[in-house]
Amino acid sequence: MRVITTARGFSDALEGERALGRRIGLVPTMGALHAGHRSLVARAAADCDTVAVTVFVNPLQFNVAEDLANYPRDLEGDVDQAAASGAAIVFAPPVQEMYPGFPAPVATSVHVDVVGDLLEGASRPGHFDGVATVVAKLCSLAGRSRVYFGDKDFQQLAVVRRMVADLSLPVEIVSCPTVREADGLALSSRNVRLSGEGRRAAVALPRALDAGLAALGAGERDPVRVGAAMRDVLEAASGVDPDYAAAVDAATLATPARLGGEIRLLVAATVGPVRLIDNVGMTLEPADAVEAAPSASATPVGVT
Ligand code: AMP
Repeated sequence: MRVITTARGFSDALEGERALGRRIGLVPTMGALHAGHRSLVARAAADCDTVAVTVFVNPLQFNVAEDLANYPRDLEGDVDQAAASGAAIVFAPPVQEMYPGFPAPVATSVHVDVVGDLLEGASRPGHFDGVATVVAKLCSLAGRSRVYFGDKDFQQLAVVRRMVADLSLPVEIVSCPTVREADGLALSSRNVRLSGEGRRAAVALPRALDAGLAALGAGERDPVRVGAAMRDVLEAASGVDPDYAAAVDAATLATPARLGGEIRLLVAATVGPVRLIDNVGMTLEPADAVEAAPSASATPVGVT
């Protein structure tokens, strides 16, 4: 395992691997690795010859200073987990290496319109600019590679895919399914900050998604009603402060007049000091077929 802390060293190492004919898999993370991250590394190791995990708590994507200050960090544990899952390289740069002059504002950043402005983008202004900027830099340093992201952050995946296409970055984006606890809670580095009570309350998020899936299964195609079914579950849970509960088109994240085709249910809520997000996908009959064939089948693709 090589632990690299300079941008130049990282770029050179991957260039060297490619020169030996090896295919590169890149797994960007903010560290505090868990089984969700490990599943990405394992998938990258199955697909590629050399896997690099990046561990960087990107200050640009935090719009609440306290969240950044409290973000869990454990580089030693991360290196062990990355190695055990099949990574050969960990890139863990200090902030000055990624943003020389920080905390002076970064002059050049990436903004992904529309898909980056909805949902999380609306609740956390600037968040996706920070994500898009750091992923663009990591892809630029890494060069030709496959880059692995989790469905857990579905909107992030959509923003990154759009950015990679628009900027013609030489990478292929690969998405991986969400890893969950036995009770359905999606694994997240932030879960360690939940109290015992908060941990029990947090299961309201996957339960809300289940309620949305149940509404769809019962034939509901009005996104407002499906959103309300999910929101009701969040609001009924004590200690859970709901943000959004949305049923949207999976490709655009826009809210259609009627749900059809590939759709995504997304929820966000605060539990104690911790903001949590979750989502699930479903394939419905096409929206224009709804009136003609109301009994057409609906297939869940990522149920809790
Ligand atoms: P983060 O360290 O939270 O920035 O996450 C790094 C990568 O791991 C992102 O692509 C996330 O979507 C992914 N990830 C985080 N949690 C999970 C999970 N529970 N299952 C699968 N992937 C995850």
